[in-house]
Amino acid sequence: MKKTLLIIVVFVSAISLLAFEDNSAEHPKAINTIIIDPGHGGLDPGAPGSFSTEANVSLAVSLRLGDSIKKHFPDIKIIYTRTTDVLPGPKQNKDAALLYRADLANESKGDLFIAIHCNSAGRAPGGWYGKRVSHYTTTTKKVKSKGKWVNKTVKVPVYETYWIENKAKGTETYVWAVNKNDAKIKSVSKNSDYVEDDEYSGEIDSTSAVKLPDPSDPAEKARMLVYAQNYFRKSLTLADLIQQEFAKTGRVDRGVKQRNDRGIWVLQATGMPSVLVEIGFISNKEEEEYINSDKGQEEIVNNILTAFKTYKEKYEQKATTTE
Ligand SMILES: [Zn+2]
Repeated sequence: MKKTLLIIVVFVSAISLLAFEDNSAEHPKAINTIIIDPGHGGLDPGAPGSFSTEANVSLAVSLRLGDSIKKHFPDIKIIYTRTTDVLPGPKQNKDAALLYRADLANESKGDLFIAIHCNSAGRAPGGWYGKRVSHYTTTTKKVKSKGKWVNKTVKVPVYETYWIENKAKGTETYVWAVNKNDAKIKSVSKNSDYVEDDEYSGEIDSTSAVKLPDPSDPAEKARMLVYAQNYFRKSLTLADLIQQEFAKTGRVDRGVKQRNDRGIWVLQATGMPSVLVEIGFISNKEEEEYINSDKGQEEIVNNILTAFKTYKEKYEQKATTTE
């Protein structure tokens, strides 16, 4: 009973905080610690490419990103959820590892959480064979007409197999949607006119047993409001900045995605602004080469670093000018 009352109090205070928009949430706090979370790992290779795995590419890019941030901001502490090809912990299953990622971020009192992943779409990395009608031929068939057997010429399709290239490409950055309706909030990032691909999977992980927040549970509601108040806007800002930098480099900008799918559960479990960056499609031959290349990884890291610099200036400046 007392617990319920406390929850109600927290809930009501969270609502009243929300009334003041985001300003009260711009806590004058410098960014001291960044958690970098390379997706998947070990038993969980993530999406397969033709010659690489999402887990390994994400790890390589994450380590380079951490090095780069350290080089430019030596005072910032970088904490990785993993630095080798294992599940974070190291844990023996995906769900335990997922909880560990969030716990580590929270226990380390991170100021920012950046998860690095690769995207995937289609039936197979690179492409696959399909079947289609190449032309028609005719054949004679005996058919019954008015009680008599007669010859009839019929059209018969001739099939051919052909190569279907796995074309889905580009970058996108996920933030946790505060609630279903918020998924409709438009981000400020300019989203190029790509076509949503068939069979596009994103980070949706239906096999995960991680319990998603139940929106009807008051404790979860209160927690989500705290997230909404303190971290949502900042997460969205950083996600937009990252996408803008990708676009400037000429990458296909698939925009900022606000979801509450299982695959990005970790974003709401961390008590800090958090983004999940899909650095490219490992299922696309060209992009798989790019995200594995020295040049590609350097560009990706520079894009995220530049976005982070802008983000840092924006919030730390606010922190010093408002008192
Ligand atoms: Zn992933």
